[in-house]
Amino acid sequence: MSNISLKSASNKLIAGLPEVESQRLLQRCEPVELTFGSILCEAQMPLQHAYFPLSGLISLVTDSSDHKPLSVAMIGNEGVLGATLALDVSTPRLRGVVHGSGAGLRIKASRLNRLLRDSPGLQSALMRYAYVLMGQLQQTATCNSFHEVEMRLARWLLMAHDRADSEQLPLTHQFLANLLGVQRSAVTIAAGKLQRKELIGYSRGQVRILSRKGLEAASCECYGMQIRDYALQFAD
Ligand SMILES: [Zn+2]
Repeated sequence: MSNISLKSASNKLIAGLPEVESQRLLQRCEPVELTFGSILCEAQMPLQHAYFPLSGLISLVTDSSDHKPLSVAMIGNEGVLGATLALDVSTPRLRGVVHGSGAGLRIKASRLNRLLRDSPGLQSALMRYAYVLMGQLQQTATCNSFHEVEMRLARWLLMAHDRADSEQLPLTHQFLANLLGVQRSAVTIAAGKLQRKELIGYSRGQVRILSRKGLEAASCECYGMQIRDYALQFAD
């Protein structure tokens, strides 16, 4: 368990817990590899585990028979997949898919439920994170309805970059199109604009972030609002 404990600092939500609660949680977690494309929870199916990413990213996606999976929120090492357990909800409405490989810690949902009874700090952190995710969902609805694809693409790239270990993101145009719920051609045009401004580079399915500041300026206000939302809930 000692190396898990060393890694705990890389999940910000765990790192922010009172020491006694974080240790109790870590003792009940197991390390897990987050592999691109793997499904960690399915919509309308009871949650088996909660996942605390240490690196990589998990998308929450909607899926139905008449459209491709649409990404509506993103979870990285700032949060947890399974925060709704603190709201006494164990059957998620959204699928959780790994969209950036990495590592994490997981705990059985039943164990976490028991732990929550005696862990007010953890309970509070999960509830606040569930609130942050609600904000992301609200932002995504606004963003998809009112903001141009170029701005939306910049926002998603920034969110992915925040949760990635490198400047290089393995994201094909088709994958980005599915994330944003638009045609591939729309992503190609938007990515081309960002490339011409020298904010990103793109080759063979790899997006390279060249200028974060430039991307922030190119993004809609949704990105900054999410950052502020998280900071308000999890200020030191
Ligand atoms: Zn937006």
